[in-house]
Amino acid sequence: MSAISNLGELLQRGAAAAPALRAPGRPALTHEGLRALAAGTVAALNAKGIGRGDRVAIVLPNGPEMAAAFLCVAAGASTAPLNPSYKGDEFTFYLDDLKPKAIIVQQADATPARASAEALGIPVLELIPGEAAGSFTLQGGTPGTASKPGMAEADDEALVLHTSGTTARPKIVPLSQRNITASARHIGTALELSESDCCLNIMPLFHIHGLIAAVLSSVAAGGAVCCTGGFDALKFFRLLDEERPTWYTAVPTMHQTILSRADRNAEIIQRAKLRLIRSSSASLPGPVMEAMEATFGCPLVESYGMTEAAHQMASNPLRGKRKPGAVGLPAGPEVRIMSDEGEFLPQGEVGEVVIRGPNVTAGYEANPEANAKAFTNGWFRTGDQGMLDADGYLQLTGRLKELINRGGEKVSPLEVDGVLSAHSAVAQALTFAIPHSKLGEEVGAAVVLREGAELTERELRDFAAKYLADFKVPRKVVFLPEIPKGATGKLMRIGLAEKLGISL
Ligand code: ATP
Ligand code: MG
Repeated sequence: MSAISNLGELLQRGAAAAPALRAPGRPALTHEGLRALAAGTVAALNAKGIGRGDRVAIVLPNGPEMAAAFLCVAAGASTAPLNPSYKGDEFTFYLDDLKPKAIIVQQADATPARASAEALGIPVLELIPGEAAGSFTLQGGTPGTASKPGMAEADDEALVLHTSGTTARPKIVPLSQRNITASARHIGTALELSESDCCLNIMPLFHIHGLIAAVLSSVAAGGAVCCTGGFDALKFFRLLDEERPTWYTAVPTMHQTILSRADRNAEIIQRAKLRLIRSSSASLPGPVMEAMEATFGCPLVESYGMTEAAHQMASNPLRGKRKPGAVGLPAGPEVRIMSDEGEFLPQGEVGEVVIRGPNVTAGYEANPEANAKAFTNGWFRTGDQGMLDADGYLQLTGRLKELINRGGEKVSPLEVDGVLSAHSAVAQALTFAIPHSKLGEEVGAAVVLREGAELTERELRDFAAKYLADFKVPRKVVFLPEIPKGATGKLMRIGLAEKLGISL
């Protein structure tokens, strides 16, 4: 599928009668059905004056219609999926920021997005689900003439998202048809996806990970994606049993939850058809990776992704050596390490990870300041710090903005997480900065203990002191039943001390 650079072509790949979209308890939508749905959707949008490059906001519950709306609208326009759990003011902010030509909502769904759109004068299109998984019709809007009708081309915008906002206010990332189709191809190659694969999607579909890794890469390979309402630890094993997926992709916190329930679902795991499991979007502790592989008896492929790269940048190999703690070999774009001054650094030296390739965004929207900082000689600066090891694997050492600055001594929270997680009583650890009057920042950690385990703050600090220099040992450890997460399931270090009301 070398030259495919737009969705219209990508959707032609699957065998006519093979399932493309699946959902529990519903007939599948075939690849042929999906092609017809895309052609019909593009024609319907064109007749409402919406064409190539025009944005359509999509606010739908996680599920097959959301996946289908993304694929079919993006075939001839640009999609702006928004988190359906936003409140009215948030919708008003994002809709005003993105200026879509229309918004798609579920018929009879009283989402506050509808009121925000109406107040901004944005036409509302109602989606009416059909019988087959993902099939739909659109109603509403007014007739018009699209200035650029028909199927989108490589450089047309296909998808626009905000970054997760883990380290700063979310930025607008426009992604072209070329960007997203390239990324789907890179993921398919890394995972050897084929028409016999079915991904169980548990990721939110307003985020790059689920949209590209689960949905687009499956369809691009001629395979299927089984769309669920989202991650639910109780339903997960039932779906694994009933839907027989060959793989799934998730963030580390989900894998950890799944792992904690593996024992009581041992029979299902035994029967499961999983060929691989993929992890991305945040760092996966090495012991979790090893435990997952041992439990599920299949490779756990950790990959490195970001919104600005239409997701994948590097991936551990499916067949070669998967290194716990490494995000793998470059898997799509070129990956180099750069100094602050813009020089490439040799293997083994730590600097900023930079990337260049067909999947990388041309730049943030309406943000010249961020773009000036983000690009150096055509290379995109990821804001992540890392190095390429002797085997060419990328090891991340932290996020530049998350480094804890303890009176000038830089502490990588990722390194401290690794040490704390190695204690047998610890299920999960997240290291974060606590504002400090003299040092600027001190090191703190939030820890979730394994079921039934007992451990004091003192014992854990003593354990950490065996492996870490004194200035890196958390001054304060809080034990929690659960660590708070952002909308995409990511752990948020920044602002955690304030959120937990911790001060020194
Ligand atoms: P913002 O840019 O608004 O602060 P964000 O960077 O969290 O938010 P995303 O684009 O969703 O938004 O996430 C990309 C980031 O996630 C990467 O830059 C990297 O820091 C982190 N990440 C992704 N995959 C991995 C991984 N396998 N291991 C460690 N970190 C990862
Ligand atoms: Mg980012």
